[in-house]
Formats: sequence, C-alpha cells, structure tokens
Amino acid sequence: MEIKKNKPALAIILIALVLLIAGTAYYFTDGFTFGNVPYSIYVDKKECAILSTKKEAKDVLSLIEATYITGDRDSYTEIGFKENVTFKRAKGDPETVSVDKALTILTKDTERDITYKVDKAGTLEEVALSLGIPAEKILEDNPDIGDRIAAGKRITVHVNAPLLTMVAVRKAEMTEEIPYETVFIKSDEAYLDIFVTQKSGENGKQRVTYLINEVNGKEKSREIAEKEILLEPVTREVIEGTKRIEAGTATGTFRLPVDSYKLGTVYGYRTDPLTGERKFHNGTDFQTDENAPVYACDGGKVVKAGWDDSYGNYVVIDHGNLLSTLYAHNTELLVKEGDLVSKGTEIAKVGMTGDATGFHCHLEMYNDGQNIDPRIYVVY
Ligand SMILES: [Zn+2]
Repeated sequence: MEIKKNKPALAIILIALVLLIAGTAYYFTDGFTFGNVPYSIYVDKKECAILSTKKEAKDVLSLIEATYITGDRDSYTEIGFKENVTFKRAKGDPETVSVDKALTILTKDTERDITYKVDKAGTLEEVALSLGIPAEKILEDNPDIGDRIAAGKRITVHVNAPLLTMVAVRKAEMTEEIPYETVFIKSDEAYLDIFVTQKSGENGKQRVTYLINEVNGKEKSREIAEKEILLEPVTREVIEGTKRIEAGTATGTFRLPVDSYKLGTVYGYRTDPLTGERKFHNGTDFQTDENAPVYACDGGKVVKAGWDDSYGNYVVIDHGNLLSTLYAHNTELLVKEGDLVSKGTEIAKVGMTGDATGFHCHLEMYNDGQNIDPRIYVVY
C-alpha cells in the first residue's frame, strides 16, 4: 500500500524538523552547551568582567540597580544604564570573578579616557549637550577644539567615574509652602520712606509632583510634572508713604544725630576723672569718626550757627512746639542761621572744636528753654 510505504520517510522529516527548531532556539539562547558556562559583561563593547554563569552576570546588573535605587521601586518611571550593556558567552576557559568583585569593578570610580564621535555638527555648547558632558570639561581636555565642531569629529575626555552609569527618573510627590507676595501701595498721606503693613501675608500650600532625574542614585535635576494648589497664599499689603517732608517741617519724632557711634558721657551728673569734681553734663556725647555727618534730629529752622569757646562750632535748631536741639564741637558747619532743614539733613561734620577731648557730637535738647535729657526724644 502506498500510505504504509511512506510512513518512515514522514517520521524522519518530522524528527529532523523538530531538531532544527529546538536547535535554533537553543543556539539563540545559550548556545550548544550543557550546564553553566562563563559569561562576560560588556560595557560599550568593552569586556569588563567575566562571571561563572549568565545568571550571575545578570545578577550583577540587578544588584547595581538595587544599590542606586533610593526609594520605592514603584516610584521609578525609568531605570536604565547610560552605556550600552551586553552579555556574551566568554570564550575558552577564562578566569572568572565573583559577583561582589564584578560589582566593585563596575561601580567604583575608574580613571580612563572616553572617546565620543560627534553625530551632528554644532557649537561647543550644542555638542556638549548632545553628548551629556559639560562644555567646560570638553574645553578643558581639548583646549584647541574651537567653537564650531564638525560631524564625525572624535572628542576624548578624561574621566574618573564608574564604568556604569545608572540613569533613572523617580516620581516624588511633596507638599510645599507657597511664599506670599508683597505689594506696595503708594500713599501721599504717609511720609516718604514710611512703610506700614496694612494686611499681613500668609503662605499658601501646594502639592507638587516632581520627576527627579537621578544619576547613580544622586539627584541631578528635577522638573515639575504636576502641581495642585491646596491653599492660595494671601498677599501682604504695605502702604508706602510718598509725602515729602518740607524743609523746616518737624515730624515730631527725633532721629540720632550720627549714623554709628559709641556712647560717651550721657546727660546728668558725672565726676570729672581729673579733678574729682562733680559736674552736670547737660547733653549726651556720641563718639564717632572725624568728619562723620551730623544730622538734624528733626526738621526745623536753624536759629544759631556759629562759634562758642566751650561748644566750638555749633548749631541750634528750633523744631517748633517749644523744642530745640544743639549740636556742638563740629569741625565744619554746613548750615547758616535762618536755614530751614528737614529731619536727617546733614548740618555739620563731627570734630573736637571748643572744649572737647575726642571726636564726638555733643547733643543738647531744650523744651521751652529748659535743658532736658535728649533721651526723652532720641532713642539710643
Ligand atoms: Zn558733651
């Protein structure tokens, strides 16, 4: 019978077919070997470590990933290596290393030269960006590179970094404060340089989702993926005075007659260190540098600008409202009788004319002609 005659031939063809398929599949997985064979890890086509088995070689990579992963693995949207990593069966009977040793080889800083081929011509900055190397680094290692780089050019940089670079993107959600803003509302009802908070500010709150770019487990940059305002901030409102103080106008408050000072003898009784005599000091001394500016403590009219054997060069300002101030021992006077001055106008320069032993401004104050303690009005 025809059918019976063809049976053995059919069986042979089938067996041959099965063997071919199985063989091909096996060839493309592990090759025609039985049991464990050594496997190499290649980084950018360079053999870096040989492990006893393919599984061990793969374990090394998984362990590196695990080392660099900083948080929950699920929070990563991308994990990979910057370099091209491949596994290849090692030839012959090579010396293998342990998983730990391979881990060290791939993750410790290694000094070496890396050569890159420029794909697309561009400026130094453009090429640096496409290669992922800082432009300064390229320039440092290739001082003659120039600003325009041709395609196909090879650039070599010296690095001291691990052979493998893990690049990952981690998603992180954080609640942050939104700092409040301050607006200044100009008002001619308040004096110039006077600021009054009309409404206080309050920080807001927002939930931000970041995409954090990590290189070997360290954050390199982050971008905002999502933002949700939970609480709007409240803007602080400040009234800013624009009203100019006219010369001669008293504000009613008194500033210091000098900028920086060391407090000397204050108003009141003191014992003279030389004679031991108890004397009344009718002012307060602000010790400062020679020629430092002396300012009018408040606006008013200069009623005296001249010389006195005891005061030296001195100025008296009438502030109205029965109040007046006196500034003594100046080297130079910058105002004359009849001048109208504002609070803070420079009226003289600090000196030690008259009865003085060091550079200072001797300030006296009067209320209705009565000598009073300047401290009542001037804060120091
Ligand atoms: Zn004095």
